[in-house]
Amino acid sequence: MGKVLVIGAGGVGSVVISKMASLPEVFTEVLLASRTKSKCDAIAARTGSDRIKTASVDADNVPELRKLIRSFRPDIVVNVALPYQDLHIMDACLAEGVAYLDTANYEPPEEAKFEYSWQWAYQDRFREAGLTAILGCGFDPGVTSIFTAYAAKHHFDEIHYLDIVDCNAGDHGKPFATNFNPEINIREVTQKGKYFENGKWIYTEPHEIHKPLNYPEIGPKESYLIYHEELESLVKNFPSIKRARFWMTFGQEYLTHLRVIQNIGMAGIKPIMYNGCEIVPIQFLKAVLPDPGELGENYKGQTSIGCRIRGIRDGREKTYYIYNNCSHEAAYEETGAQGVSYTTGVPAAIGAMMYLKGLWKKPGVFNVEEFNPDPFMEQLNLLGLPWVELHDIDLEL
Ligand code: NDP
Repeated sequence: MGKVLVIGAGGVGSVVISKMASLPEVFTEVLLASRTKSKCDAIAARTGSDRIKTASVDADNVPELRKLIRSFRPDIVVNVALPYQDLHIMDACLAEGVAYLDTANYEPPEEAKFEYSWQWAYQDRFREAGLTAILGCGFDPGVTSIFTAYAAKHHFDEIHYLDIVDCNAGDHGKPFATNFNPEINIREVTQKGKYFENGKWIYTEPHEIHKPLNYPEIGPKESYLIYHEELESLVKNFPSIKRARFWMTFGQEYLTHLRVIQNIGMAGIKPIMYNGCEIVPIQFLKAVLPDPGELGENYKGQTSIGCRIRGIRDGREKTYYIYNNCSHEAAYEETGAQGVSYTTGVPAAIGAMMYLKGLWKKPGVFNVEEFNPDPFMEQLNLLGLPWVELHDIDLEL
């Protein structure tokens, strides 16, 4: 059906490639490119498929990216490198006339601030070029946004309250590790909290608001209100929302390590001089922390991510909870990666499939909730991320 260039040979990239390798009728040819080609080769070799080719590319170098795109001529580029590369890859896609998909919104390296404004600014250029850009197609953002679109389409006349709940009840056996790129992860979770209420953004101190929430098949877990990027697009695309919040579980051990890391300056993003050499503390920290892509082997337990929604249907109040539970062990057995890489990589592969099938194809830059959720939801059930719906229950929120 189509050709895909995947950029980024990390934990998420390895799952994207594993899924694409298993779907030859959709992904006819796949090229995996990253800074380090040997990582691409190892991922390709694991699939045992000769349809997966590899290359090296510096995705911050637009001429180099353009050359690679021109030589392979993909239908779509799937960006699972880091958020810092988003704009460079979008520039190269525009210049070479190719569609674009990613799983995380742009973040400037020199400032821990993520928002959609930079990528939404490409709207006119993609529309005029007749090209599609699909933003935020992982789990959160991604599936949580599609769950919300599905709820709005099938179960509500108006959504009023949205709480996205993200629980990782897994245990990787390490004293401290992050589940995706440590630099991006630590920048995200140490930010101030932020949520949307009655047309305004409310700011909190980091981890100031928290409460225990019950997760299916897991039980109660302390959940912390943090800011997450899909809130920005969801309140714009579903204007009936009065309040939108995001909750994530953290263990005490994780929070203690995080506090120490911050207190001793290791979360710093400004370069410092060390022995005559410039280093960025958080990048040095990443180099000594466990690689999230290597956590899978001993990871036990599961993730549970979903949307708890309150709104109006046929004139009466309705509550609704839609979620997926994903087992780290099952993810590892299938793809060699842990559950967080799995829950991000599978939706990215499905998003590329939606584009290749012509189901999610329109000129412009779109967040995933702006497409028809139904065919995507169908594929989640088929490709390893089945979802469950509960109606008229106590949402705890
Ligand atoms: P990793 O750090 O494991 O992998 C990132 C890969 O990108 C690395 O292999 C690295 O290459 C490559 N890379 C970095 N810079 C460049 C560059 N300039 N040019 C080419 N390749 C580059 O991260 P993850 O796999 O854990 O995460 C990937 C993405 O997924 C991130 O953007 C993250 O924010 C996002 N994510 C989204 C989630 C969601 O639900 N929406 C959840 C989790 C993650 P190399 O190793 O060769 O240097």
